[in-house]
Amino acid sequence: MNFVYSRAYTADIGRHVFPTEKYSLIYTTLKQEGILTQDNLFEPQRPDNDALLKVITEEYRDDLVNARMTARTYPSEMPVTPNIINAQILCCGGSSLAAELALPHGACYHIGGGFHHAFRDHAEGFCYLNDVVYAAVTALEQGVDKVAVIDCDLHQGNGTAHFFQDERRVFTFSMHQERLYPKKERSDLDIGLDIGVSDDEYLEKLAPALDRIFGEFNPALVIYLAGADPYIFDQLGSLRLSVEGLRRRDELVCEHALSRQIPVAVVLGGGYAEDVADTVEIHSNTARVIHGLEKKY
Ligand SMILES: [Zn+2]
Repeated sequence: MNFVYSRAYTADIGRHVFPTEKYSLIYTTLKQEGILTQDNLFEPQRPDNDALLKVITEEYRDDLVNARMTARTYPSEMPVTPNIINAQILCCGGSSLAAELALPHGACYHIGGGFHHAFRDHAEGFCYLNDVVYAAVTALEQGVDKVAVIDCDLHQGNGTAHFFQDERRVFTFSMHQERLYPKKERSDLDIGLDIGVSDDEYLEKLAPALDRIFGEFNPALVIYLAGADPYIFDQLGSLRLSVEGLRRRDELVCEHALSRQIPVAVVLGGGYAEDVADTVEIHSNTARVIHGLEKKY
């Protein structure tokens, strides 16, 4: 497994529910365990301003690169400051690099990304630019014929679903809490969960969805959004998955892909546990699961 990471992801955004320090904490954890080493670690490159037009309009791009507070940037619920905007621009390069490094049949874990609420012409829900879309579009440009986005964040991947609604080469799947932000878009497959869903019910619903994605769509690349926010002690959600349940979720998704030699690029998405150490543990488990599966396949 390869890793993509930049220290710039831990942008200072003041007091905020989004813990940008989780990126450096995950990096340190995986490095101490020897899963991440100097040999499997890669630095993302910032896409140039023209490349950003793959996923956003010119007007919105100009707002972003100039850190302007406008009707397009304002809905981000983030400060409109260069450090967080630049971190998310860099993340587009990071997720795209993770997809490249996962090909032809491995896994790459991006210690970042998953900003799936961003739209072509505006920000939303802590997200300025949709790195998942950027990575999928870039993969298609590079000749990958079919990409599946498996989005297991607590929140629906509305920006991703909307962007790819008419793109048959990208299958969008989202499993999320139904009665919650955002206003829902239509993915190729949506599973909206009731409040209070816990491990067994979650995994029972996820398994047949994965069978369908891998059996019928049969992707050449998976982008897995391994959100930590379906967790029972998350501050934004009302699902009730345990740390162990989320680890089993990771295992189910990654085993489906890796047992078929289908490459997986992991991006992180949300995670707002009362104790940031829980968020770090849930995300680190995703890497540990892949590390274990790689010995098996
Ligand atoms: Zn989320």
